[in-house]
Amino acid sequence: MKPIVYVTRTIPEVALALLRQYCEVIYRDEVPPPSREEILRSVENVDAIYCTLNERMDKEIMDTSPRLKVIGTMSVGVDHIDVEYATSRGIYIVYTPGVLTETTADLAFALMLATARRVVEGDRMIREGRWKLAWAPTMMLGYDVHGKKLGIIGLGRIGAAVARRAKGFNMKIYYYDIMRRRELEDELGVEYMELPQLLKESDFISIHVPLTAETKHLISEKELRMMKPTAILINTSRGPVVDEKALVKALREGWIAGAGLDVFELEPLPADSPLIELPNVVLTPHIGSASYDTRNRMAEYAAEGIIKVLKGEEPENLYNREVVKIRPLHSVKMI
Ligand code: NAP
Repeated sequence: MKPIVYVTRTIPEVALALLRQYCEVIYRDEVPPPSREEILRSVENVDAIYCTLNERMDKEIMDTSPRLKVIGTMSVGVDHIDVEYATSRGIYIVYTPGVLTETTADLAFALMLATARRVVEGDRMIREGRWKLAWAPTMMLGYDVHGKKLGIIGLGRIGAAVARRAKGFNMKIYYYDIMRRRELEDELGVEYMELPQLLKESDFISIHVPLTAETKHLISEKELRMMKPTAILINTSRGPVVDEKALVKALREGWIAGAGLDVFELEPLPADSPLIELPNVVLTPHIGSASYDTRNRMAEYAAEGIIKVLKGEEPENLYNREVVKIRPLHSVKMI
C-alpha cells in the first residue's frame, strides 16, 4: 500500500510529480490556503502532510491524524508548526533550508536600496503626474547605501548572504546573533556587537532571525528609540519579530528614517494598516523567496524530504533531528 500524503494547496508541478511517484496524493489544487476545518477533515488517514507557512500545524491537527509520520513544509521558517509536540509524537518535520537563501537576501537588499533611494516614491510620483521639474538639486534626496554601516540581526544563512552582498557595496558590517559566528567574522569581515550597540551604530538594520518566543517583538519601542534618526529598518524575517505599532510610531515621529518590509504581524496586511499611508516605507507582500527557480526548488526539496522519511532514510532537510531517538526511521519506513 502506498503512503498517503495530503497537499494543502497548489504547489509547483515538479514536486507533485515527485510525490505521485511514491505516494497516493490527496491534492487540494487551490491557491488560497485551506480553512482549519478543511485541514482537520483531510488529515485523518494520512501518513504525511505537505504544507506551507500559512497552515498552522498544531497539537489538534496532529492528534486528528493518528498515522501521521512526517510534515513537510515549503518554507525555512517553522514557526507555524508545534515542533515540540511533533517531536514528542515521533513526527518528522522536513523544511527547505538553504535553497531560498540567496533569493531572500536579494529581496532584503532590494528593499534596502528601494527604501534608501526612494525608488517606489519616485515611481509613484511619475505615475500620478506629479513629476513637474525635470531635475532639481534638492529633489527626492535619499540616503546612500554604499559605504554605510549595516547591522545584521541573525547571522545565519540569509543574514550571511546579505553580508556578502553588502561587502560589494563597501559597507561596514556589524552583526548580532544568539551565538558568535567566529568563522564568518573572518570570512566576511563582520564585527559582533550586542544588540543595543548595533542599533545605535548602524545606518541600516536587516533582520534575519527565526520567529520564536525569544524573538517576538525583539525590535520594539525601546530598540527603535536607540536607532539613528537617519536609520532604515529592513525586515524579511517574520512580522512579529518587530512590534508593528511601535514601528508606525517610530516612522511617523521620525525616530528612524524609513523601513522596507516584506513581512507583517498580520498577513495579508489589512487595508487600514497605518503603514500604507506612510511615504517612507516600502512594502512587499511576503515575496522573499518568490522567484520561479527558488519556488520550484523549495517545492521539490520539501517533497524529497517527505519521501526520504517514508523510505526510512534520514533527509538532509530534517528539522527536528532529535525525533529519530523517539521514533527510529526503520519504524516509519513505508516505501
Ligand atoms: P538560519 O540560518 O537559522 O538563521 C537564523 C539566525 O538567527 C541563526 O544564526 C540563529 O542562531 C539566529 N537566532 C536564533 N534565535 C535568535 C535570537 N533569539 N537572537 C539572535 N539570533 C537568533 O535561518 P535562515 O535560513 O537565515 O532564515 C531566517 C528566517 O528568515 C527564517 O526563519 C524565516 O522566518 C525567514 N524567511 C523569510 C522569507 C520571506 O519570504 N520573507 C524567506 C526565507 C526565510 P542559531 O542557529 O544558533 O539558532
